[in-house]
Amino acid sequence: MPSIYLHIPFCKQACHYCNFHFTTSLHYKDDVVAAICKEAVLQKEYTGKGIIETIYFGGGTPSLLDKDDLEQILQTIHMHFPVDANAEITLEANPDDITAKKLQDWKAVGINRLSMGVQSFFEEDLQWMNRAHHATEALSSIKLALDYFDNITIDLIYGSPGLTNEKWKENVKTAIQLGIPHLSCYALTVEPKTPLDKLIRLQQKADVDPDAQSAQFLLLMEWMAAAGYEHYEISNFAKPGWRSKHNSAYWQGKTYLGLGPAAHSFNGHERQWNVSNNNLYVAAIQKGELPIEKETLTPDQQLNEYVMTALRTMEGIQLNILDEKHGVDAIAFRKKAAGYIHTGHITEKNGCLILTNEGKLLADGIAASLFV
Ligand code: SF4
Repeated sequence: MPSIYLHIPFCKQACHYCNFHFTTSLHYKDDVVAAICKEAVLQKEYTGKGIIETIYFGGGTPSLLDKDDLEQILQTIHMHFPVDANAEITLEANPDDITAKKLQDWKAVGINRLSMGVQSFFEEDLQWMNRAHHATEALSSIKLALDYFDNITIDLIYGSPGLTNEKWKENVKTAIQLGIPHLSCYALTVEPKTPLDKLIRLQQKADVDPDAQSAQFLLLMEWMAAAGYEHYEISNFAKPGWRSKHNSAYWQGKTYLGLGPAAHSFNGHERQWNVSNNNLYVAAIQKGELPIEKETLTPDQQLNEYVMTALRTMEGIQLNILDEKHGVDAIAFRKKAAGYIHTGHITEKNGCLILTNEGKLLADGIAASLFV
């Protein structure tokens, strides 16, 4: 069953590590919202007859949208796509935007899952990242959100230079004690051309230490397992029954339609992405044109994508899928992975190749070595 992703390209201020597409000016918000609605109509055939199972407002900062904006977008989707009555509808929200009124509005328009960009409960870390919110807001916004939503996930970042293991433990412990059923935890990555990249080059900020990041990831896996969370994808942990349906659909290779500037779509064999420029996006859509580029995946690329994404999940690479869906000799593939089984980076269970905790530290490299 397909999904819809909406890219809302607005933020209050630029976090120093971020390389997503966004602008800090809300000047053209109404035009972008109108264009997203028009694009939904132009793209209504993309998902075929499939019932939409998940809708995801990402960005950017979708919590900057007004109730009317969200209503307009969701009504358009409901009008032009068959949407499951129990669809998971997620909104990414930053702590500084969260008020009781906004939470009520989000519930009223049909949002049933919140993804909160918390990153840290320590003020000095938030300032180091140039986040718009404060540590006190991180905590109070979660407590308030829990009065309205039970399906909440928060993002945390580890491996930033100021984050000691003790502080990392405190961040994770706080999330667990608040009863958050889902956590996404990301190692801080220094992306090229971001302000963080520049500041590190100018020696105005310390660089990240990959060994310290690995150590914090190993600690994280230990703490989350002890707290009863499933480590169902390399960066994602959920209490049983609280996995993200939207992200799971990506990892299962299901069809998704991305709407909005810079949004990506995938239909099983072809990727397409919208121009990463709000003005060009709006101008094209207003003319009834789709500002997209496309790439058709070869059978080898489809296989490699499966290897890459499946290896990052708790279920691992299923040898029968390699065989049935990708025409790969499963015995030969298993032989290729034998070295990692021998070194304890991969375990084999019920016909699946699954990364161990040590293997998860090397996930990308292991996947690449298994590519065709
Ligand atoms: S709020 Fe999110 S999208 Fe916006 S700059 Fe920060 S990390 Fe990037």
